[in-house]
Amino acid sequence: MSYVIPAPAQPSLPIQGSDQRFPVRRIFCIGRNYAEHAREMGATVEKDAPLFFCKPADAIVTDGADLPYPQATADLHHEVEMVVALGAGGRDVAADRAAALVWGYGVGLDLTRRDLQAVAKAKSHPWDVAKAFDHSAPVSALRAAAEVRPSPATRLSLAVNGSVRQQATLADMIHDVPGIIAMLSTLFELKAGDLIFTGTPAGVAALQRGDRFHAELEGIATLDGRVA
Ligand code: MN
Repeated sequence: MSYVIPAPAQPSLPIQGSDQRFPVRRIFCIGRNYAEHAREMGATVEKDAPLFFCKPADAIVTDGADLPYPQATADLHHEVEMVVALGAGGRDVAADRAAALVWGYGVGLDLTRRDLQAVAKAKSHPWDVAKAFDHSAPVSALRAAAEVRPSPATRLSLAVNGSVRQQATLADMIHDVPGIIAMLSTLFELKAGDLIFTGTPAGVAALQRGDRFHAELEGIATLDGRVA
């Protein structure tokens, strides 16, 4: 098999404490999964109608790498989120079987061009240009679920230039991880290599050039970077 152009590189994430890497297939995201964040965005939470969107796998930025300030925005927002990495997939997966699909956990930023999102919302346009741009998905090294699992008490936080901007515990999530996997799998066939961003707590705000960020999923993963 040969290609007519060079094959694109396989996006991947490092694994904590291992030389092996996790190959990323797709990135799914849930919106409005923390009530206070939905409120700060002026949105109402419809528990029965979750909002999903996607980012391309090559939007990944790995831990410690500089984040290029994106094109076409003057309002780049951070959204710190727990990231779930799937080691197996399926369609129409029952919630009580969904936890078995999880390979591991990390922490990431669902970066958002908030100005473009506001335009998209006003015009009832899709969110792709607001959410799925280049370098829009910084993610930490992953930690295997066989080693450590988050609990409802696990803290999710983001500091920018040393000041805490976002902080919550996973108990504040509206849909838990098995619930998210079950719902997503009614819309898409999930597969090993998929990442799921599980929503952000309140406190989203703008990042500026030169800002340093530190995201943490307590006891599991950290992500550091700088906006270049
Ligand atoms: Mn988000």
